[in-house]
Amino acid sequence: MSTLIGIDLGTTNSCVATMRGSDTVIIPSSTGARTTPSIVAFAPSGERLVGQVAKNQAITNSTRTITSIKRKMGSDTKIKIDNRKFTPQEISAMILTQLKKDAESFLGETVKDAVITVPAYFTDSQRQATKDAGRIAGLNVIRIINEPTAAALAYGLDRQEPQKIMVYDLGGGTFDVSILDISNGVIEVLATSGNNFLGGDDFDQVVMQYLLEEFRKQYRFSLESDPTAMQRIKEAAEAAKIELSNYQKTDVMLPFIAQGKEGPINFQVTLTRHEFNQMTKHLVEKTKAPIMQAIKDAGIQVTDINKVLMVGGSTRIPAVTELVTSITKKQPFKGINPDECVALGAAIQSGVLAGTITDLLLLDVTPLSLGIETVGNHFAKVIGRNTSIPIRKSQIFTTNAPYQSSVIIHVLQGENERANANKELGKFILRGIRRAPAGVPQIEVTFTIDVNGIVNVHAKDLDTGKEQDITVEASTNLSEAEIQNAMRDEREYEVKEEVRKELFQIKQNALNLVEQAKAKMKNDKTTKKQIKPVMATLQKALKSDNKIDIEVATKELEETLAIV
Ligand code: AMP
Repeated sequence: MSTLIGIDLGTTNSCVATMRGSDTVIIPSSTGARTTPSIVAFAPSGERLVGQVAKNQAITNSTRTITSIKRKMGSDTKIKIDNRKFTPQEISAMILTQLKKDAESFLGETVKDAVITVPAYFTDSQRQATKDAGRIAGLNVIRIINEPTAAALAYGLDRQEPQKIMVYDLGGGTFDVSILDISNGVIEVLATSGNNFLGGDDFDQVVMQYLLEEFRKQYRFSLESDPTAMQRIKEAAEAAKIELSNYQKTDVMLPFIAQGKEGPINFQVTLTRHEFNQMTKHLVEKTKAPIMQAIKDAGIQVTDINKVLMVGGSTRIPAVTELVTSITKKQPFKGINPDECVALGAAIQSGVLAGTITDLLLLDVTPLSLGIETVGNHFAKVIGRNTSIPIRKSQIFTTNAPYQSSVIIHVLQGENERANANKELGKFILRGIRRAPAGVPQIEVTFTIDVNGIVNVHAKDLDTGKEQDITVEASTNLSEAEIQNAMRDEREYEVKEEVRKELFQIKQNALNLVEQAKAKMKNDKTTKKQIKPVMATLQKALKSDNKIDIEVATKELEETLAIV
């Protein structure tokens, strides 16, 4: 088996780790960093940029730079670049392809299998989308695990005393809180709760609005129609937020942010931690209800919590730590690097699956209830939230009209009594039911949730014995054909990328040679007659972008230079 990797596919940053013997190691990115920005950009030339290089050009190429794609996973959003529309799965696959490449160059071997983490609160379609992104990137996703579970794995391996742990995970775009029970190598997620649309990005937005407002007050015009200025304000807002985690005040300085009536404007504002805390208080407070919900769902009291783990970059915000401390009356545990522990946990899980770690068993739960719609817009739950997975559960349903020969099975995920207030996972029709009075046919609906938290639904008419297997495919999920197409596109892109890189190198060599030829002609005028026409041929070939022509002309010029 080739080496397995664990991937934390984050909203803002991603991280990869692997096992070396019994130790976990973080795999550095191609730029030597321990995390990779989850950013994809398309250069004006069409070239694809991923990670730090994409982040570096975000200001000047903001309309072709894609950030926080994780927030769109499981939705039917499309990202239009030039004439192509990309799904969130395809964009995520581009990040995964980069992480895979980095791992391959670090390990010196082909990487095939990976464990990928997702927020505990991710719905089925978001999990499925993540798995599909892995496939598109050429990875065999052997397991999807919840991020807090992964964090606890990174922590729990060498801690054997029984304990209840709260994992508070506030990243770039998502928040979740989980209550876990750890004892003798068994990590059980008792409950999870959270908010898929809350994270560091929201804090950035608040600071950004503040900066824009300050600018408007000072200069009486708005920066909002200038994408470059907006991108700079966004970056400055994040930098200010990060600085305020360590200092009581920060100076935001943006030279030449815009052109005013009296010349370029150098925008400057001071922001204190107190002001920052006031303006972001509502965001910190928003994490309170999910904490209480998770504690309640776990069937424990706040006082039962032995340790609190903080995961995700945004937990470095002091007000966040203060809130968690005030609720739990515990100082959050800081022994784990919040940026890396999820990937490390994923690597540990990959070690469990590869059989290199044997003293650990992971029990996970489903974060949301599953069921179907019944008469009167009612949601009939078949599997309750926080049930341990994998699980298979059946329930009998019947018809509500006389002589009904088919039923619509509308599969939903959520907690609301009203069917239409929940997330639709899929809809299918079971036909061929024996004609009978209402309430007589017995239709058995079986839900299966696999170890990855991915759902399958089967329906069976118990009267006729007719069985039908139905795989739930949410409307936002990619079909097999679409995945295959995306995989093919990705491979084609890789091949094109190789060709482009090769051509770039050949052209680079040719250009160097042209420079050498020019120098030679300058130093020794007598050679000009022989060199000039050969050099001109190469320059013409360079304009054509034709690889063979360039190679032939390069060789010719090399030979000419060697003999003159
Ligand atoms: P993650 O998704 O876990 O990588 O978290 C990324 C988020 O953490 C981004 O919104 C960052 O701006 C934020 N972040 C990173 N470091 C800090 C810090 N020192 N203070 C506040 N937020 C931070």
